Amino acid sequence: MFFACVQLHATLLIMIYTRDELFSVQAAWGPVYSIMSSNMIITQLKKTPAILCLAVTIMLPSCSKKGLDRDLIVISGKTMGTEYEVKIVTTETISKQQFIEVRNGIDSLLGVVNQQMSTYIDSSEISRFNCYEKTDWFPVSTETAEVFKQSLEVSEKSSGAFDITVGPLVNLWGFGPEKRNADVPSEESITQVMRFIGYRKISARLSPPSIKKKVSDVYCDLAAVAKGYGVDRIAEYLEFNGISDYLVEIGGEIRARGRNQRDTVWQVGIAVPENESGIQTVVSLNNLSMATSGDYRFYFEREGIRYSHIINPGTGKPITHKLASTTVIHTSCAYADAMATAIIVLGPGEGYKLALRENLPAFLIIREKDSFVEKMTPAFKKCLAPDEHRSNH
Ligand code: AMP
Ligand code: MG
Repeated sequence: MFFACVQLHATLLIMIYTRDELFSVQAAWGPVYSIMSSNMIITQLKKTPAILCLAVTIMLPSCSKKGLDRDLIVISGKTMGTEYEVKIVTTETISKQQFIEVRNGIDSLLGVVNQQMSTYIDSSEISRFNCYEKTDWFPVSTETAEVFKQSLEVSEKSSGAFDITVGPLVNLWGFGPEKRNADVPSEESITQVMRFIGYRKISARLSPPSIKKKVSDVYCDLAAVAKGYGVDRIAEYLEFNGISDYLVEIGGEIRARGRNQRDTVWQVGIAVPENESGIQTVVSLNNLSMATSGDYRFYFEREGIRYSHIINPGTGKPITHKLASTTVIHTSCAYADAMATAIIVLGPGEGYKLALRENLPAFLIIREKDSFVEKMTPAFKKCLAPDEHRSNH
């Protein structure tokens, strides 16, 4: 097991973990402690992390009241096929042992969530449920039952645009754990798989926690909600341990609470689609979560047509409209994650209407000829960072 702990005072911090040749560059204004999670895959980190495509946390050069006595702890690693990063700000001196305990706590918590909800793990609850051929109640953890219930709620609200039974289509189009060459499936194969799609074919209950399918071939995929759920669990874990200034992020889904190292509310940038360095806008997150769904993240192209990993359960095909990215803000990151997917499936018109109906802060980036236009709900406007912060980007 490898970990590194560094304490440096510099305006630009370059952390170099020589054993594994990892270079991590981060702007910082005070002491920064960093621990690499034991399950981090170094070579993956050398690539641009997925978060940069969707959301970017930025540290703004504004004045800090206490600034330099606030230490930043960064714990990062790999989970759910992507990276996670937890930033904790503290005014107290933290021992190496405390670092390790928090890091291990986060790692084991994520291990549990994966063991419950990952379709990439054969022995996970969701995988065993997917293989289960009977249609009686299947006992699961409270957590999995909760995520099913929350997913079904979003399915109802979005008239089935968000639907975790979409799994067989995700696999058919080559975006799931069943590896296949990315190619356009035949109409017949889509029609055949469509028989198992539909959120009304599943149910969930909390006491006792269990889930159920009405058709034995139903196969559920929680990828559109599990990252957000993982963020919520880590945030709860931190709060339980008395940590109240933090930012948690898994693959672009974020929850932030309290204040950052510069003693201001956390500011998070939303990236311009397909441009990792461009920032479309900046929001302030104060005890809130933010999730983004984008059609440009995973896709393949055939004959000039882009086929995205976001599937419309009504047609059995990847979305085709002009909505490139949707960001949703909510207290629950799982809910924001599911809603962002629901809105991107519905598209710029119906998706926007859903956000308005639910009074959701939502930010849509729409393709128009060679550029992008943005559309935000009135609730989202209230979350925008102050003008001076946004005009810097
Ligand atoms: P996200 O990035 O949160 O929008 O989640 C996208 C992932 O959710 C995809 O890679 C699929 O595994 C799955 N997915 C695709 N379409 C849907 C849908 N309509 N409803 C629920 N999950 C979906
Ligand atoms: Mg989602």
